[in-house]
Amino acid sequence: MQRIDGQSLAKKVQATVAQEVAQLKQEKNIVPGLAVILVGDDPASHAYVKMKAKACENVGFYSITHSMPDTISQDEIIATIEMMNANPRIDGILVQLPLPKHIDTNKILEVINPKKDVDGFHAYNVGRLVTGLDCFVACTPLGVMKMFEEYNIELRGKDVCVVGASNIVGKPMASLLLNAEATVTITHIHTKDLKAHTSRADIVVVGVGVPGLIKEDMVKEGAIVIDIGINRIADGSLVGDVDFKHVSPKCSYITPVPGGVGPMTIAMLLSNTLKSAKARV
Ligand code: NAD
Repeated sequence: MQRIDGQSLAKKVQATVAQEVAQLKQEKNIVPGLAVILVGDDPASHAYVKMKAKACENVGFYSITHSMPDTISQDEIIATIEMMNANPRIDGILVQLPLPKHIDTNKILEVINPKKDVDGFHAYNVGRLVTGLDCFVACTPLGVMKMFEEYNIELRGKDVCVVGASNIVGKPMASLLLNAEATVTITHIHTKDLKAHTSRADIVVVGVGVPGLIKEDMVKEGAIVIDIGINRIADGSLVGDVDFKHVSPKCSYITPVPGGVGPMTIAMLLSNTLKSAKARV
């Protein structure tokens, strides 16, 4: 069994981004800029935004965080996004999810200029992803693809089971895998017999938010298991959606939580923002 080390790979990606940022600044006097919109006081969202701002600083980006109370109106959020759309120093706009209940998330995401949609959640980018065209791809699934590439994991013709079908994780993950010519099964909460699907897959990619959902008898010998889940359990520790202790001995490759997919998400956000900055006219 080999652990896929997301921490090291993310550091490698960040070092490359930092190098390219320095070059971009020197050659074209461009400093990539990221705007983050944070609504409400969810502690996890605050922690993620802090990590993102720190990562931006480390690679030499310009970054701003617009923090808003959860009583803010939808129109006020939209006005802030429109301001960022028009700001020439901003290459990427990220709205930290989840948003409060009274806000229509889809409506908010649609306001972001698709050329600055570094999270890849705008329908324009989702459509281009499905069609196999160049676009901004959601950071977490993109990070998983980067891991496959780094570890020379062949996807063509493989049976892959994606567990979880959200717009930000499961669906874009499935599109990327399909574009890479894997045979993809997408499962979710209403799937009748999850085990029947996971246990015949060469690769299982899980992002659901249920600690220990994937158990030893649900994966085949030699499977590759990617755990996207991040769950804080009663003792305060972070665990994934896979029962790592019992599943890992059966795997050829597996990602740990923490230190697996998580760090890759931020690395891909930086990489997407750099891509947008490079496309400035
Ligand atoms: P979500 O709640 O939007 O979607 C969850 C999906 O899992 C749904 O499709 C649902 O049908 C499915 N699901 C739920 N319970 C299931 C079950 N028992 N069996 C099969 N399918 C089930 O969640 P999300 O935003 O997609 O996040 C999923 C997980 O990924 C969470 O733990 C989240 O913290 C984590 N996440 C991690 C990163 C990262 O950077 N590593 C990024 C985003 C999300």
